[in-house]
Amino acid sequence: MPKYVYFFGGGKADGNESMKNLLGGKGANLAEMAGHPGLRLPVPPGFTITTEVCTYYYANKRKYPPELKAQLEKTLGMVEKIMGKKFGDLSDPLLLSVRSGARRSMPGMMDTVLNIGLNDTTIVGLIQKTQNPRFAYDAYRRLVMMYADVVMEKAEGIEPKGGKGIRKVLDERLGEVKREKGYTYDTDLTADDLKSLVAEFKEIVKDRLGKPFPEDPMMQLWGGVGAVFQSWNGKRAIEYRRIERIPDEWGTAVNVQSMVFGNMGDDSATGVAFTRNPGTGENQFYGEYLVNAQGEDVVAGIRTPAPINEYSKNDQSKHLPALEHLMPENYKKLYAMQRSLEKHYHDMQDIEFTIEKGTLYMLQCRVGKRNGVAAVRMASEMYKERLIDAPTAVRRVQPSQLVELLLPMIDPVAELAKTSIAKGLPAGPGGATGKAVFSSEDAVAWAQRGEKVILVREETSPEDVDGMHKAQAILTSKGGMTSHAALVARGWGKCCIVGCGDMEIAHDNKSFKTKSGVVVREGDWISLNGTKGVVYEGSLTLVDVDIEHNAAYMDFMKLVDKIRVLKVRTNADTPADTRKAVTFGAEGIGLFRTEHMFYGEGSEKPLFLLRKMIMSKTKEEREVALNELYPFVKNDIKATMEALDGYPVTVRLLDPPLHEFVPHSPDKMAALAQELQVDVEELKKRAENLKENNPMLGHRGVRLGVTYGEVTAMQIRAILEAAGELIKEGKKANPEIMIPVTCTVEELINQKKIVDKVYPEACAAVGLKKIPFLYGTMIEIPRAALTANRMAEVAEFFSYGTNDLTQMGFGFSRDDIGGFLPDYLNNKILPADPFQTIDQEGIGELIKIGIQRGRATRPQLKVGICGEHGGDPESVKFCHRAGMSYVSCSPFRVPIARLAAAHAALEEIAAAEKPAKRKPAKKIEAKKPAVKKPAPKKPVAKKTAPKKKSPKKGKKR
Ligand code: ADP
Ligand code: MG
Ligand code: MG
Repeated sequence: MPKYVYFFGGGKADGNESMKNLLGGKGANLAEMAGHPGLRLPVPPGFTITTEVCTYYYANKRKYPPELKAQLEKTLGMVEKIMGKKFGDLSDPLLLSVRSGARRSMPGMMDTVLNIGLNDTTIVGLIQKTQNPRFAYDAYRRLVMMYADVVMEKAEGIEPKGGKGIRKVLDERLGEVKREKGYTYDTDLTADDLKSLVAEFKEIVKDRLGKPFPEDPMMQLWGGVGAVFQSWNGKRAIEYRRIERIPDEWGTAVNVQSMVFGNMGDDSATGVAFTRNPGTGENQFYGEYLVNAQGEDVVAGIRTPAPINEYSKNDQSKHLPALEHLMPENYKKLYAMQRSLEKHYHDMQDIEFTIEKGTLYMLQCRVGKRNGVAAVRMASEMYKERLIDAPTAVRRVQPSQLVELLLPMIDPVAELAKTSIAKGLPAGPGGATGKAVFSSEDAVAWAQRGEKVILVREETSPEDVDGMHKAQAILTSKGGMTSHAALVARGWGKCCIVGCGDMEIAHDNKSFKTKSGVVVREGDWISLNGTKGVVYEGSLTLVDVDIEHNAAYMDFMKLVDKIRVLKVRTNADTPADTRKAVTFGAEGIGLFRTEHMFYGEGSEKPLFLLRKMIMSKTKEEREVALNELYPFVKNDIKATMEALDGYPVTVRLLDPPLHEFVPHSPDKMAALAQELQVDVEELKKRAENLKENNPMLGHRGVRLGVTYGEVTAMQIRAILEAAGELIKEGKKANPEIMIPVTCTVEELINQKKIVDKVYPEACAAVGLKKIPFLYGTMIEIPRAALTANRMAEVAEFFSYGTNDLTQMGFGFSRDDIGGFLPDYLNNKILPADPFQTIDQEGIGELIKIGIQRGRATRPQLKVGICGEHGGDPESVKFCHRAGMSYVSCSPFRVPIARLAAAHAALEEIAAAEKPAKRKPAKKIEAKKPAVKKPAPKKPVAKKTAPKKKSPKKGKKR
C-alpha cells in the first residue's frame, strides 16, 4: 500500500531531509529536525501528506487516493498521543496548523491556516485549560480570518467583490474596532472585543462568501488540506513558478502540525532568524521576533519586530528589547540550535521559532535566501571555516548573482551633495534610480513602455511579485527585514528598502510625503541606496563598485579559477576597458575591433584620414592616406596590447561596410573635398557609389581586404610593428590576427599572402628576427563552419562570431528581430532569444561541427567565442562542453563567465561520476576543503593547443 502520510515528532520521524521531492522542503526539514539523532530539536509533532497526493489529486479530478483518509486518521492518533490531547475534544482540544510546502520554498506563495480545530464548543475547553480567554479568542478570530481567506475564498477561486478580498474586509473591521476603542496595537484588544469580533467575522463571512464558517473540526482539517493543494494552481503560485522556473508538475506537500502558541502572553513570542546575516553574509546570528504574537505577524509588518540580539538592531528597532536580554535562557537555547543546524546542513539556515509560555519550539528551517553579496561572502567564509569544500563553495553562487557585486552603486560623491528625504531598512543592497509608481500593475505597464520604475508600497504581498520583478527597486513604508518585500528582493538580488516609516503614502495612492514635507508624485524620479537604506529625490548617477577590495570576492574567485578549465577573455578596444577587464580577471582580449578608433573621443583625426582613404579614387591616393593613418592604428593597438602585458590579443581587421564612415555634414564633406582636391559634387558621387542595398551582407570584412589589399597590408603592419616595438621595449606581446566574415579558405589564403609579404618587412623595421603572432579567422558564416576542415588548413585559430552566426544561421536580422521575437516567445516557437543564449540545437551544432572538422585538420586549433553569448552563463557552459579554449565577453561579464565556466567543469565531473555512485542523502562531507582537480577532459578538449605559457599561470587549453 502506498504511504501517503509521514509522521514526525517526539524524537522520531518517518522521513528525512533527503526526501524533499516527496515531502516538500518544509516537510523534509521538519522530519530532519525532529528525527535526526544529531538534532532531535523540539518540533511540535505532526505529519506530512506527500506531493504524490497532490499529483494524484490533479490527475483524478481533484479526488484523493482512497487510502489517504485512514492513513491520516491513524497518524493523527500518533500526534494526539504525544500531545496528550485530542483533536476536536471538548475539554482540552488539540489545535493544528495546515501548512503548504513545495520542493523549493516559495516564500509567501502558499497559504497557511493556523488554529484549526477551534469552534464555538471547543473554545470553551481551550479557555478552561489555559485560563486565558483573550488568547483563545485571539486564536479563534485568526482562524476564521485565515480560513475564510485561504480555504473559502482563494482556493475556491472566488474573485472578491470590488477587488477587496475577505481578509482585507475582516482586517478593516478589526482596524475599525481598534480605532473606536482608541487602541494602538492588536494586543490591546480584550477578550470581549475579540469574542464579539469572532461573531461578527462569521456573519461577514457568511454574508460575503455565501457559506458559513465550518464548525466541524474534521471538516476544517480537510478543507485546509484541500486548499493547500488548490493553491498550487492559484494565480500567484503559477506566476512565481514562471519567474523562478519551477516546474508545474512538482506539486506541493501538506504539513499538518500541532499548534504551539506565541500569543499566550508576555512569556510567549514568535520569530524568524538567519544563522548568518542574509544581507551582508556576515557570520552573525541575525533575526527578529515579536512578544505575544502568532504566525505571520513578524512577516506581515503589523508591529515593528524587535531584534533577537544587539547585532540585529537597526534604526527602527534599536529602542526595542532584544530577545537575548528579555528571555536569556531561551535565547541561549535558540543560539545553540541555530549553530547545530548550520553545522548539520553546511549552509546558512532561515529558521522560524515560537516560544510558548517559556518553552522554545522550532517550526521551520530551510536554506536561507541571500543576495549575491552575501552568497559570495558566505561561500568564501564557510570554505575557510572548513564547513564546505571548494566545489560546494563555488556551486553556492549563481553566475547571475555576481552581477550584484559588480553592478552600480549610487555615486558616493553625488550622494554626499544630496540630503536624503527618507530612511528605511537596507533590505537589498546596491543603488537604483527610477520613477516612482505606486502599484504593481503600474510597475508592469510602465516597465513595458521602457520606463525605469521604483515600486513604492506600504508593504508588498504575493500579488505584487510581477511588479516587483519589473521594478528597478522596491521601497516600502512598513515591514521589517524579514517582511515579504525584503525576502523576495533578497532572493532576486534587487535593491530594496523596507520599513521606511519616514514616508507616508497618500490615500489615492499617487504620491508619498516624507516627514520633512517632501512630496513625491507618481512619475517623479527617486534614487535608492539599498546598502544604507536611504532615499533621495531625483535621479542620482550610478557608479561601479570597487571589487578588488572585496576580500571575500577575491578569495571566492580564486576557488573559481582553480576549478574552471575554460579561459575567459574580454571584448575590449581601449586600454581603459582592457585594464578594467583584467581586474575582473580577463586573460586576454578575444575581440579587439580596429574600427573602434574611428568612433568617439579622440577619433577626429583618424576618422578624417580613414574617410580620406575611403574616398580616394586610385590606389596611389589610397596609399598616401593609409600611410598617414598608419601611426594612429599602430599606436592604438600598441596601447591596448601593452595594457595586457603578454596576454593574447585578437585583433580583428576592418569589418564594417565602408559607407558607414562616409561623412554626412556639408562642412565635413567640404573639408574632405579640399584635402582630396576634388569638388564636393564629385565627392558626393563617390559616396553614392559606396551605397549598398544590403550592407550587412555586402562589401565588408575580408571582402574589403580582397578588393583593397593595401588596407589589409597597413593593418598587418600596424599589428606586427606594435608587437615588435613592445618586445623591443622589453615588454610582452601576443597578437592574433583575425580575418572577419570569411566563407571560404581561399579568402584566408588570399589575405595570408599579404601577411607573408608584410611580416619580414615588419621584422626588419623593428629590428627583430621574429615577431610572435597567430593568423586566424572569425567563424560567423555557416559555410565557414561547415568547411572548417579547409579553413583550418590556413587558420591557426577560430573565433566564433555568434552574433552573425546566429543571424545568418537563422536568417533573422539582428536589428529587426524585435518585431517578431515576442510572438515567437509567447507561442513557444523559440525557447529564448537566440541572440542572448546560444541556440544549442542549431547554431550550437554548427559550432560543434566547426570545432570537430577544424581540429581534424589542425589538432592544436585554438577555438574561442567573441559574440555577446560569451558572457551568458548557459552559453558559457555550452562552450565548455563543446571543447572551446576560451570565451570572450564584455569586461563586466568576465567574472560571470569565470564562474559559469567553473560550474560547467563541476557539472561535467558530476555527470561523469553519476552512474558510479548514487548517494543522495549527504551533499557534502565536511572538513574536506581540498580542491578537486577537474576530471581529465574529454577527447575533444584534449586535442586543444598544448598551451603556450600564458603570462600569469599555465593551464590546460
Ligand atoms: P510559509 O511557507 O509562508 O513560511 P508557514 O507554513 O511556515 O508558511 O507558516 C507561517 C507561519 O505560521 C510560521 O512562520 C509560523 O510562525 C506559523 N505556524 C505554522 N505552523 C505553526 C504551528 N504548528 N504552531 C505555531 N505556529 C505555526
Ligand atoms: Mg505563507
Ligand atoms: Mg514559514
